[in-house]
Formats: sequence, C-alpha cells, structure tokens
Amino acid sequence: MGFVKMSHMVTVYPSGRRFEVADNQWLLDAALENDIPILYNCRVGACGTCQVRLLSGEVAMTSDVVLSDEEIEAGHILACQAHAKTDVEILIAEDAMQVIPARVDVVEHLSSSIIHLRCTLDKGICYQPGQYAQVNREGLDRPRAYSFASACQAQDNTQDKVDFFVRLVPGGRFTTWLFEEAKPGDTLELSGPFGTFGLRKSQAPMILAAGGSGLAPIKAIMEGVLQQGLARPAWLFFGVQTEKDLFDLEDIQRIQKAWPGDFSFVPVLSNEPDDSPWQGARGFVHQAITKAQQLPQNAEAYICGPPPMVDATVEALSQLGLARNKIYADRFLDSRDLLHAIESRPR
Ligand SMILES: Cc1cc2nc3c(=O)[nH]c(=O)nc-3n(C[C@H](O)[C@H](O)[C@H](O)COP(=O)(O)OP(=O)(O)OC[C@H]3O[C@@H](n4cnc5c(N)ncnc54)[C@H](O)[C@@H]3O)c2cc1C
Repeated sequence: MGFVKMSHMVTVYPSGRRFEVADNQWLLDAALENDIPILYNCRVGACGTCQVRLLSGEVAMTSDVVLSDEEIEAGHILACQAHAKTDVEILIAEDAMQVIPARVDVVEHLSSSIIHLRCTLDKGICYQPGQYAQVNREGLDRPRAYSFASACQAQDNTQDKVDFFVRLVPGGRFTTWLFEEAKPGDTLELSGPFGTFGLRKSQAPMILAAGGSGLAPIKAIMEGVLQQGLARPAWLFFGVQTEKDLFDLEDIQRIQKAWPGDFSFVPVLSNEPDDSPWQGARGFVHQAITKAQQLPQNAEAYICGPPPMVDATVEALSQLGLARNKIYADRFLDSRDLLHAIESRPR
C-alpha cells in the first residue's frame, strides 16, 4: 500500500489567500514557501515573532511557552511550532508588516558599549511595553530586532518617537555602523510592533531583571506600571560588567522616585576589579537574586537580556519558589544563536 501524504488547506485573513500545508510541515515554513508575509525570527518558539491567531480548525503545538494564558485563550499560536491537523483559518498581523520610514534623531553613547537611539517615524504606531521593532537600513542583509526602551505615550497609532538601547556586538554589521557612523538625519526603516513579552494585567509584586541592553523593555514595562498608577512592590536587578558600564541611572532614579510602592534597585557587576571602591552587589544577576532577602514567592518576574543570563535567572527564580507561568522572559538572540537554533531544530 502506498504512503498517503496528508495535507490541509490554510486560509489567511485579512487577505483571504490560501495555501496547502503538509501534515508534517511547520505552518510557518509552508506560509513562507507561499509568500505569505509572516514575520519570524528564532524559528524555535523562543521569540514569539511568528505569532498568528487561529480563527478555526485544529493545530498541534510543539511549544507555546512564550505565549501568555490570555493569548492562548484568544487563540494565538506560534506558526513555527504548529502542525495543522485539519483545514485552518488564521489571522496575521498585517499592521506590523508595514515598513515605516524613520529618521535618526539621537545617537547618544550611554557607555562604551550601549547607544541610545531615538528615531522619528513617518507614521505613528502603538505598542505594548516589552514589545520590539524590526529595524532595517539600506544595504543590510535583514532587519535587526530592538525592544522599545520607553512606554508608548499614545493609546492610538500616533506614537512617532521611538527609543532603543542598542549594545555593540563585535563584528555585527548594524551595530558597528550605528556606533561608528550613524548620525542624526540618517534614514532607517522600522516595522512592528512584535513580541509577546510584556506587562501583564496584575497587582502582584514584581521582580525585574535586566542584563545590559535588556534594560530597554524592562524600562518600558516599569513606565507602563507608572502609567497604570499601581502600587506594586518592585525589585529591579540590573547586571552589567563594571561600574562604568551602568547606564540610564538618572531615568531609573526618576522611575524609583515616581513609583507608588516600594522599589529596590540592585545594580550587579560581574567584572568589577576586586580593588575598586564598589560597595554594591558583585557577580551575576541570578546570584544576586538568590542572595536577596524577602523576595516574595507570589511575585511576577520580567527578565530580559542575553540567553544565558535569562536562563540562569529563570532557574534561580524557580528555585526561590516563583510559579513558572509567572516568570516572563525575553531573550536577545543574535544571528549566531539563530543559526545554531535553526541547525539544531528537530525536523
Ligand atoms: C526579540 C529581540 C529583541 C532584541 N532587542 C534588543 C535590544 O533592545 N537591544 C540590543 O542591543 N539587542 C537586541 N536584540 C539583539 C539584536 O537584534 C541583534 O542581535 C544585534 O544588535 C546584532 O546586530 P548586528 O547587525 O550588529 O550583528 P550581526 O551582523 O547580526 O551579527 C551578530 C553576531 O553574530 C556573529 N555572526 C553573524 N553571522 C554569523 C555566522 N554566520 N556565524 C557565526 N557568527 C556569526 C557576528 O560576528 C556577531 O558577533 C534583540 C533580539 C531579539 C531577538
């Protein structure tokens, strides 16, 4: 008896376009083969970029850990993790697919390895604190992801100033240009918003952990809490290598002063010389969290930074007794991580 290849029909809204997906094929791969513009990044269920909404039909998900309970309830799925089990209808975020011309306003060196980039967009957008944009420039091979470093002030699509904290990646094409050549007036392109990392509706105490430029979405989340006026006790752990790598401290102080509840700020240095006058925490963020007193087990945690920092911090918080589904994390994957993830992905 011959092998029967099963496939299902996918209808994509709002355009109504249709394509076939094989039983054993990822929904994202089939969509891309058919020129359906679903944006993606990690392809392993870690970044949330390829999120679409399932309107009808059934899929089997390999992983949906980056989706919140509310998103799962609303039918959101990750196209890179989904196999169709029946014909399906999906809704894609065409709004985020738009490419908006942007002009560089500010390129400010906050430390030797971090730049504050502010751009003015030709067309306003609206995003949630914790989300990110894809930033591109002429001649670049593909866009780069950067998290918004401030909360959206406008509730409609009128936010036309956007801020980012960008870390210099040695050998990186976009960041080398940004650190060595970029100047006000230069043009970029931006699309978004993307991502499921972000402030959840809650009154629970908050543990915030940022590694380097991972401060960007954490700062946007803190500003989001300030906008809501909620008196949530908060602990902010901010890890960098040395004291001179600490950045944006004035803004952190401003947030701390305006915070309606208790707010503890713990800068953590991983590579400060032993003989320096630094009196604060040393080591890695996850170690400072493990040593901290009185972190409440009913807290929600928001973590952002390089993947090893995020993984170690998730583990430390789980050990302290925080519920795994209350630990929200965003990993700043770079192209090396992505290549590695794609190569080691199960087929
Ligand atoms: C959702 C998300 C949000 C992010 N937000 C931020 C943010 O707010 N701030 C921030 O600073 N970063 C953020 N990042 C990381 C950022 O997108 C980029 O990874 C980073 O800026 C690199 O861009 P680049 O062009 O300079 O480097 P790339 O040119 O992409 O190179 C990155 C590194 O990989 C190496 N590399 C490239 N290609 C290869 C290859 N084929 N083999 C081996 N090594 C290779 C390069 O030498 C370099 O070290 C985020 C990432 C994600 C996924």
